[in-house]
Amino acid sequence: MSKHIEPLRGVHDVLPAQVPGWQLLERAVREIMLAYGYEELRVPIIEQTQLFKRSIGDFTDIVEKEMFSFLDRGEDHITLRPEATAGVVRSVISNGLLREGRLRVWCMGPMFRRERPQAGRFRQFHQVDVESFGFAGPDVDAEVILLSARIFRLLGLSRLKLTLNSLGTPASRARHREQLVTYFRSHESRLDEDSRRRLEANPLRILDSKNPDMQELIAGSPRVLDSLDAESRAHFDGLCEHLNAAGLDYEINPLLVRGLDYYTHTVFEWVTDLLGAQSTVCGGGRYDGLVAQLGGAPTPGIGWAMGQERVILMLEKLGIAAPRQHAQVYLVLVGAAAEHAGLALAERLRDEVRGLSIQTNLGGGNFKTQFKRADKSGADFALVLGEDEVARGVAAIKPLRREAAQEECALEKLSERMAQLLGL
Ligand code: ATP
Ligand code: MG
Repeated sequence: MSKHIEPLRGVHDVLPAQVPGWQLLERAVREIMLAYGYEELRVPIIEQTQLFKRSIGDFTDIVEKEMFSFLDRGEDHITLRPEATAGVVRSVISNGLLREGRLRVWCMGPMFRRERPQAGRFRQFHQVDVESFGFAGPDVDAEVILLSARIFRLLGLSRLKLTLNSLGTPASRARHREQLVTYFRSHESRLDEDSRRRLEANPLRILDSKNPDMQELIAGSPRVLDSLDAESRAHFDGLCEHLNAAGLDYEINPLLVRGLDYYTHTVFEWVTDLLGAQSTVCGGGRYDGLVAQLGGAPTPGIGWAMGQERVILMLEKLGIAAPRQHAQVYLVLVGAAAEHAGLALAERLRDEVRGLSIQTNLGGGNFKTQFKRADKSGADFALVLGEDEVARGVAAIKPLRREAAQEECALEKLSERMAQLLGL
């Protein structure tokens, strides 16, 4: 026999027992997006490599070392999307969705990054993604942040903190950049290899370093907030006022820069102390230059991405249980006549009772075995059909999860009775 095939490193199955947690999150996301008038957009998982290089930036972790890229038949350079914003921007440009200048969309799905797998960090992971185009003021910054807060609240998540910063306009970023280069150059011997490489090309990236040995140096670096021009300051203050008015707590973190190049003005992250080193659950910011950079008409934009695995891990750590996925009714069929009638009976019940979920016993077995399976299935009721019941045109209804007597019901009254018992 050949050896079985293992999954790829950092890539996971979501098992039936885990799916309810995912569905809980997905339902919360759909509900809240609707509550804010955001429409779902579905974008491809593969795109031209160029798209990510041009948007995320050459000296970012993602483009430098994390992309899964390949040459297809020696012709096309293709990359599995490492994040969603670039694809969404590409899509809204190529489909002309920005003709009216404004658009509020979201999407959800798998992303791929060749990282070192560890708790909360995978090579295939999932993100919920929100993008809002065409609004230049800080009101939309506040809106997307409030939207994320509402998802967390609906899920019952605690131990989350919102952190904010502003990178300012490209002009104030450029001023800060010069100060950073001067600062880090004067401490060049303390820079690690990555940071030395980024010093000239993209010094802001040094602030995003995860290397513990670099943190003290980074903490002493010039603050981007101190270089903000009046326009950037007004935008940031506007956002803070909106959040204050909405009663949402936040903390300003002047060292927050985020790992992608396209951000301007607002950047923010939701962080938790529950997940060790992988503390960021959701991150985002404003990207006013990105649409034009990718060939569209100049359009401001802002968005965020939420790591679904990290949210699920938080749900587990906080003991927030999702309802198990199982049928309400298990149909016990003993004997040839009952087996013969069983599938058709289940079909009829599903036809007549909207929302009824019923799992049919397959492959025979005596009463004892089938009741064991019924119990294991998680169903609330066993619906029992034996030779005797078939002959008399009835079924027995046996509650499995509470002390209540078994009852008998004529087959033609069964839909009505089941609907009543299950509140359907
Ligand atoms: P990190 O600093 O943890 O590497 P990042 O800044 O690279 O995160 P983003 O690109 O901002 O992450 O992605 C948004 C969110 O997606 C993160 O806050 C995190 O919750 C999640 N995420 C990112 N990379 C991974 C990964 N490899 N595995 C699981 N979740 C991830
Ligand atoms: Mg990363």
